[in-house]
Amino acid sequence: MKPVRTVLAEACARWPAGAERARIQPEIWQLACHVLQWPLERLLAHGDTPLDETAVSRLEHLAARRRAGEPLAYLTGETEFWSLPLCVSPAVLVPRPETEILIEQALARMPAGCVARVLDLGTGSGAIALALQRERPHAQIVAVDRQAPALAVAARNARRHGLPVTFLQGHWAAAIAGRSVDMVVSNPPYIEHGDPCLAEAGLCHEPRTALAGGADGLRDLRAVIADAARVLVGGGWLLMEHGNQQGAAVRALLAQAGFGEIGTHKDYAGWERVSGGRHG
Ligand code: GLN
Repeated sequence: MKPVRTVLAEACARWPAGAERARIQPEIWQLACHVLQWPLERLLAHGDTPLDETAVSRLEHLAARRRAGEPLAYLTGETEFWSLPLCVSPAVLVPRPETEILIEQALARMPAGCVARVLDLGTGSGAIALALQRERPHAQIVAVDRQAPALAVAARNARRHGLPVTFLQGHWAAAIAGRSVDMVVSNPPYIEHGDPCLAEAGLCHEPRTALAGGADGLRDLRAVIADAARVLVGGGWLLMEHGNQQGAAVRALLAQAGFGEIGTHKDYAGWERVSGGRHG
């Protein structure tokens, strides 16, 4: 039986040497922690432990799937967003670090102790709604998705963290049937139809319904803006994530829909990523 350290080194060696291999190494270690159900500290301290055949073949199988482009989060069933460990499955988009910009901007408009009614449209794994609920326990957060399998993942995450978000199935704000809210947040699908990135290894494993935003990528952003204009109270904020080239288009759509105080916030890579405005 080979020591775990050797098995991991051999798995990493299947990636091209250099940057790619350096990037994948921590992921291979995470896969090993998942297979062995060990915390990382144990793996670091006991790299000489011999691995049995079953563990080796499970690890090699997962590493091969990772090489074929499946996101690590689907292989372990787990990811982290806003320091919250979340369950994920191929029914939901893997939450991205840049979406934390949306959380920061929403929280900046929700004072501590606030009891605002917040609507998360297209919640997927529930990441946005759950992060906001964790930070603002008294807010009344409702999260909507059209896809029942996504809502099952989101509800599981809410139970896991004991967070009282209400989940509703439906088409955007139609799900709240005429009620009004103080804030709308959303990370809708926004990738343009035919964008080659949809077919690339990274994204082709994720749900198309969470990624593809119609012919110009703005279809769902338009729908979210129209619905937000309908359900927001006067002075209520809408904040949306969008593609890195969509800032100007989204600001124009917000202006057309009568929003004021329109602004865009950049992500950690310096791209325009989150835009919003205040309902008149
Ligand atoms: N940020 C994701 C990506 O480009 C897309 C998410 C979305 O369409 N809402 O990988």
